[in-house]
Amino acid sequence: MNDEYKSIHKFDLELIGQYFASLKRQGPGSPEVTIKALSFIDNLNDKSLVADIGCGSGGQTMILAQHAPGNITGIDIFPAFIDLFNQNAEQLDLQDRVKGIVKSMDDLPFKDGQLDLIWSEGAIYNIGFERGLNEWRKFLKTGGYLAVSEGTWFTEERPAEIEAFWMDAYPEIDTVSNKVAQMQKSGYMPVAAFILPENCWTANYFAPKVEADEVFLKQNAGNKNAEEFIANQRHEAQLYQKYKDYYGYAFYIGKKI
Ligand code: SAH
Repeated sequence: MNDEYKSIHKFDLELIGQYFASLKRQGPGSPEVTIKALSFIDNLNDKSLVADIGCGSGGQTMILAQHAPGNITGIDIFPAFIDLFNQNAEQLDLQDRVKGIVKSMDDLPFKDGQLDLIWSEGAIYNIGFERGLNEWRKFLKTGGYLAVSEGTWFTEERPAEIEAFWMDAYPEIDTVSNKVAQMQKSGYMPVAAFILPENCWTANYFAPKVEADEVFLKQNAGNKNAEEFIANQRHEAQLYQKYKDYYGYAFYIGKKI
């Protein structure tokens, strides 16, 4: 890790939450990608129970609700995101079947075998991919699906700078083939894996952050932590531009067997 930039793990969660609450999406993705991942899932009906874990303010949850039947529970540890989530659901008149609750992904409020689908975009890294796969599995019915997006290496080897960045940020990043093998090992039949297109990062994630950075810096003028956090975020965007041939996000869809 470059010493000029503080590790993401050094920042206060409240500060990170305040910043990300100002964004429509809290991670790379797009409506098209959510719909594409959903196209692999064939078990849903009006009675289905779906969990969106690490839902943030619910950008992808609302797309899911508009394109699939059933009831969706959004789970996030950050109360401000859940407030926004529930406001968004109401604005779209989805409040009867889409509800957000504040809970941690390592303490989920579901019963064993209750869920038809577990969704999680850009969030399973908080518990770790393998741990999440293993711990969440019991909540799914047999034949239920898991669909998660996750940091992924595109190549077997990569430049030292980006390797070091990820080993600090999230050492569980791995290749598609290794992630798929982990799914299989954890008791899911791999159904699909696909790479998120670049616009999920650039147009939908980094571009809106440019303005959000300015607003956040003004709101937190003189706060050194806030300045260092924005420097960290800008550094991440620069690294993506430089090394996007080596990593990105992939969606992984598996079926509980
Ligand atoms: N799925 C959203 C948000 C991704 S960002 C999107 O794609 O836009 C990751 C999310 O995980 C954040 O909203 C963060 O608050 C949430 N999170 C982090 N740790 C968590 C935990 N232990 N339990 C539940 N949610 C958590």
